Amino acid sequence: MVHDALKSAKARPLWHDPEIMPEVQPALCADEKCELLIVGGGFTGLWAGLQTRERNPQADIILIEQTFVGDGASGRCGGFINTSLAHGKTNTEAQFPGECEQLAELGTKNLKELLETLERYDIDARYEKTGEMYVSLDEESTHRLRQNYESMKASGADVVWFDKEQVREQVNSPTFHAGIWDRGGQDGVIDPARLCFGLKHVLLTLGVRIYEGTRLINLESVGKTGMRAVCAGGVIYSDKVLIATNAFPSKISRIRRSVIPVWDYQIATEPLTNEQCEAIGWHKSRHALADFVNMFHYFRMTKDNRITYGGGGAVRYYYNRGTHIDLMDAPARYEQLVREFFETFPQLEKLGVRFSNMWGGIIATSTRFSMVPGTAYGGRVAWSVGYTGHGVSASRFGARIAIELLGYAPSDILKLQFVTKKALPWAPEPLRWLGVKLTQQALIKADRNGGRRGLWLKFLDWLGLGFTC
Ligand SMILES: Cc1cc2nc3c(=O)[nH]c(=O)nc-3n(C[C@H](O)[C@H](O)[C@H](O)COP(=O)(O)OP(=O)(O)OC[C@H]3O[C@@H](n4cnc5c(N)ncnc54)[C@H](O)[C@@H]3O)c2cc1C
Repeated sequence: MVHDALKSAKARPLWHDPEIMPEVQPALCADEKCELLIVGGGFTGLWAGLQTRERNPQADIILIEQTFVGDGASGRCGGFINTSLAHGKTNTEAQFPGECEQLAELGTKNLKELLETLERYDIDARYEKTGEMYVSLDEESTHRLRQNYESMKASGADVVWFDKEQVREQVNSPTFHAGIWDRGGQDGVIDPARLCFGLKHVLLTLGVRIYEGTRLINLESVGKTGMRAVCAGGVIYSDKVLIATNAFPSKISRIRRSVIPVWDYQIATEPLTNEQCEAIGWHKSRHALADFVNMFHYFRMTKDNRITYGGGGAVRYYYNRGTHIDLMDAPARYEQLVREFFETFPQLEKLGVRFSNMWGGIIATSTRFSMVPGTAYGGRVAWSVGYTGHGVSASRFGARIAIELLGYAPSDILKLQFVTKKALPWAPEPLRWLGVKLTQQALIKADRNGGRRGLWLKFLDWLGLGFTC
């Protein structure tokens, strides 16, 4: 059944619909000069270009991308968009004590401004304000979910509690025990590639030069005032460089130590028929969903009533920082996701649901489970990387930090620990692989035990490295 369901799935992100893919910009083929060079055509690079341009319309900017804009995590993600800058309240409090409230305000403002920008430039990213819903999968985690609900309610959040019967009225899955729906604010879903392509179009209109198929090979300083970026087709001389390469291998050792690439896989169904929609009832509520466990799935509906489904047990870290494109060809991961999907929605298996797309992407994971900004070369190079699975809106804020670090209208945000505190580096291999493996096993075990954390996770918590959803 699993094989049948995947039989005609294309190995391509659903979002990379050939009908909407924009023309690829030519690769660099001669030496160039500019004020600001941006390396990486994902959300961070694109937002950095736009925000710099808005702050300084005269800034002469080049953006280079090794393949095509939106080919990294940004054009492959789930498209859940929210206000979180540091991966939820628990992690924010643990990593940046005393800054929780301020980061929550900044995150809310960031999302509001992001959506206003889409309106301003007429970018149709297929935004839907769905809120976010977490569902518990057993009695013990229902208890923890309820505690979360009480504390969110007490802090004034607009949240709704669904008991077993109610949650299944919203989305009919025999695995759901309860749910909380955070419906306040502007959280929702977007089509991430449409956002990338829309931003690319705006940058081109504003005169930013974009070279696709152009990889940064080497970066070095020219005296004390400039930078020299050696690329496949030429050299780019610039005053400043913004690195927006996230999980990909970096020339800068501090970036290499800050993030590890974790592969996350997704599948997408064909548009559901009316009968399939009625069988789960989700098309009426259209919540953006995640299960309330450590190894969580995230799943959502698209405008044309497909379901995209990712995460869960298919997430992998490959030994020694595997980022090679071949790692996307992972039939066992896709089959596992289909099995997990049918456990969640057995009705859809009976009704013969088929999958149209399967794809993978790389999540840049930092030890603090949130972005890591930094500078090098006397402040001429800046970056923001490592959003750890929460980067759709946070990358706009990461881009803002990076451009401010480069001197484009710096503000008080640069004084936050969120910016100044150094991230713990990842251990070298093979310790890193071993640590990630142990942690993944421990998280799976905790999920089986209703969230109770074993010794290894408690030890990580004590070190400030424990992941809590
Ligand atoms: C499967 C998946 C699901 C996700 N789901 C969500 C979600 O639902 N919600 C959420 O908030 N976040 C999600 N994320 C995380 C989010 O997508 C990322 O945090 C965000 O897109 C990071 O953007 P970025 O621009 O920093 O990185 P990327 O989009 O990865 O962009 C980096 C770019 O740099 C380019 N590059 C790398 N090296 C070079 C070089 N040497 N020269 C030139 N170019 C180079 C790459 O080709 C790439 O295009 C998900 C991530 C994945 C992988």
